[in-house]
Amino acid sequence: MRRPFVAGNWKMNLLLGQARELMAGLREGLPAPLPIEVAVCPSFVNLMPMNKEVASVPVVLGAQNMAAAERGAYTGETSAEMLNDANCKYVILGHSERRHTIGKGEDDAEINAKVLAALAAEITPILCVGETLEQRDAGETEAVLTGQLAGGLANVTAEQAAGLVIAYEPVWAIGTGRVATPEQAQSAHQHIRGELTSLYGTEAAEAIRIQYGGSVKPDNAEALMVNPDVDGALVGGASLVAADFLGIITATIQAKGL
Ligand code: PEP
Repeated sequence: MRRPFVAGNWKMNLLLGQARELMAGLREGLPAPLPIEVAVCPSFVNLMPMNKEVASVPVVLGAQNMAAAERGAYTGETSAEMLNDANCKYVILGHSERRHTIGKGEDDAEINAKVLAALAAEITPILCVGETLEQRDAGETEAVLTGQLAGGLANVTAEQAAGLVIAYEPVWAIGTGRVATPEQAQSAHQHIRGELTSLYGTEAAEAIRIQYGGSVKPDNAEALMVNPDVDGALVGGASLVAADFLGIITATIQAKGL
């Protein structure tokens, strides 16, 4: 069975003291032993101090982005090597805010270059894919997911792919309070797994964890997580409040019967 995986994307939130408080809440509230994997993804400046915190909390660290380039004259950028230095196991790539709302937006080719750079540095990408509301209404959801997977994963080998994490994040559900129904989520996840099977074969596709992201809260998590192709959650807003994040973790443990 794939190990369920819940990750918190803190985005551009939490000053150092607030981040420490949140980690203290997780330290107190997480069940031991923890039967699923949990990650938090702080801002770049809080990665190093959170690396100290995770020594006493059973969570791992992820970053929210990284550069494709190895090092050099890239003002304001952060490399995979630097993320390794900060003990990051994961990096979120292709998040919808980076595709659609920040600057000129990243395309699949740029995201793919980052995916390949992360894999080369042995950092696991959490590759986000998802359709906009217009695309869903136009019946294009599956085509969009297929295109983003093929583009984002170009030149990724089956061996590398087996360790990947994909996050299905419908753009219309992110930070909006409008969550996908469990049926919509399962249908998109099934499609993603089917595409991964075409790209990499059954064995690799069955090993890949597919998270759902988009307004996951403690009261809707269990109904989403109970779906066979939903292997966890990528959580934004609710990951900033210890009780809410813990509620989602508990709901995931329950949904998977662990
Ligand atoms: C996200 O940013 O990845 C996300 C899913 O946000 P939220 O949970 O707030 O919708």
